[in-house]
Amino acid sequence: MIKGFRGTSLVDYPGKISAVIFFGGCNFRCPFCYNVDLVLPERLKDIPEIGIDEVLAEIQKRKGFISGVVITGGEPTLHPRLLRSLMERIKAEVSLPIKLDTNGSKPEVIKSLLKENLVNFIAIDFKAAPERYPELRGNFAQIEETLSVIAGHVPFEIRITAVPYFISHNELEKLAPFMEGAERVAIQRFMNEYEKLNPEIDLGAYSPEELKSLKVFLEGKVNVPVVLRNV
Ligand code: SF4
Repeated sequence: MIKGFRGTSLVDYPGKISAVIFFGGCNFRCPFCYNVDLVLPERLKDIPEIGIDEVLAEIQKRKGFISGVVITGGEPTLHPRLLRSLMERIKAEVSLPIKLDTNGSKPEVIKSLLKENLVNFIAIDFKAAPERYPELRGNFAQIEETLSVIAGHVPFEIRITAVPYFISHNELEKLAPFMEGAERVAIQRFMNEYEKLNPEIDLGAYSPEELKSLKVFLEGKVNVPVVLRNV
């Protein structure tokens, strides 16, 4: 279900001005998630649904100045039929490149979208060390499978929100072997000032210097460009 639309964004599709479409619902429960309204069913039900026709009409209006469309969430791959229809119509009616943001938990959905050439770029999140994915209600084996599906088929970036409770040098070392093939790894500053899914855990926040130290450390472990975001 589509639950949100932003007409113009300068930051969601690297190198492009984009429109952003938000899907509701998520199978993960990351304590640091600040899209609480899009994740918790009891909140989600109060957000009106937006139809594909309406979304396409809004994109059409902006076609002159946007150069891409981002589909994000929540987790868009939980709605494979709607996602496919939306992507097919974007391709057919406005012919814009599509970036998909995903937690990587649905490799079979991504595989079928790639088969139909519906996705131009993927951002996949690495949220914690593999053995800690169950704390997010995830399973890193699915992320690994998604990586094997996308590597060599579509450009992708790995995004890491640097939440101290989950990500330190030690965790980056464990995740580094899974980063090869990415166009870049983006370490994003975790802003600890918003309402989060689990306010009871002390998640912490890194200083700009600490984030630079994580970046330098990771650069020593991978052959992929590492960038910092929102620092
Ligand atoms: S995967 Fe994303 S949307 Fe889902 S709970 Fe985690 S941070 Fe929130």
